[in-house]
Amino acid sequence: MMELNNLLRENIKNLKPYSSARDEYSGDAMVFLDANENPFNAPYNRYPDPLQRMVKEKIAVIKKVGSENIFLGNGSDEPIDLLIRAFCEPGKDNVVSIDPTYGMYQVAADISGVELRKVSLTEDFQLNINDVLGETDKNTKLIFLCSPNNPTGNSLKKEAMLELANQFHGLVIVDEAYIDFAPGKTLMPELEHFPNLVILQTFSKAWGMAGIRLGMAFASTELISILNKIKYPYNLNILTQEKAMELLDKKVTVQKWVKLLIAEREKMEKLLAEFLFVVKVYPSEANFLLVKMHDARGIYNYLVEEGIIVRDRSKVHLCDESLRITIGNSEENENLLCALKKLI
Ligand code: PMP
Repeated sequence: MMELNNLLRENIKNLKPYSSARDEYSGDAMVFLDANENPFNAPYNRYPDPLQRMVKEKIAVIKKVGSENIFLGNGSDEPIDLLIRAFCEPGKDNVVSIDPTYGMYQVAADISGVELRKVSLTEDFQLNINDVLGETDKNTKLIFLCSPNNPTGNSLKKEAMLELANQFHGLVIVDEAYIDFAPGKTLMPELEHFPNLVILQTFSKAWGMAGIRLGMAFASTELISILNKIKYPYNLNILTQEKAMELLDKKVTVQKWVKLLIAEREKMEKLLAEFLFVVKVYPSEANFLLVKMHDARGIYNYLVEEGIIVRDRSKVHLCDESLRITIGNSEENENLLCALKKLI
């Protein structure tokens, strides 16, 4: 069984965390003169709950995990950064990620002065476990996976991810930012069997709340308490917590959006494939399509002129000549198709 404490950086093992004014007492007092707040302008005059207990209770029900297995951050970028800072000694430890994938693992590692080793996916964008394990050594603390993966759009095979978690001595982080578009593909039910598994999800995609900055990490209680120990004391503001509570009561709306977006994705996949300059539309389980075409950069520039912005991924490993196109509403998607038709 993995000893989480042994994986931690020395200074984090010994860290005495900041204690907030209301850590000791959070009962039903009437008068709060402990945090140097302004008594006027309620409720925004008060510091938010540092552990976001009410939001977590609602998420726990929906995700079928304990509240103590949830960490909430300022986007899922926050737990990505915190995991590196908690476990990796700058200049000594390293992390491994797949290639291509979401860019923040590299940036967060670079900011912390931690080496990131990239392991190419196979041609069909799947994991080669031996290649990944081959890049690890005793100083490898974390492996970042992303499923469905950005920018390729496909899910990684469950068995391969779990096999990796089985064989690796450190933490396996699976970024499931797009998981709501890939029903049945989540590793959430595996959390209790794999103490070294961390799952990241976000309110920014299917939940339609990129603007409030709310990301989630799900893991063992031990790991969650490490993240809580090193986070900023009040990392989620009151407005974000309030908006999240509102949305969590509207689960049906989110399911409706997901259904609509998947239908739009299927339509776009078919229609984009019909253009002569399109070489391939890669299968997607996310809310975007990776589309390989002749002269991707030229088409990107043309679309910018037409007032349509997509993401140029043509210089990304295994994605040559490809654009990543987010699925919009039917009108936005129609605009894109019209612009592309004018090209012929
Ligand atoms: N993970 C992946 C795979 C992403 O594509 C993104 C956003 N593009 C994020 C995480 C960041 O999400 P958040 O808005 O929660 O920081």
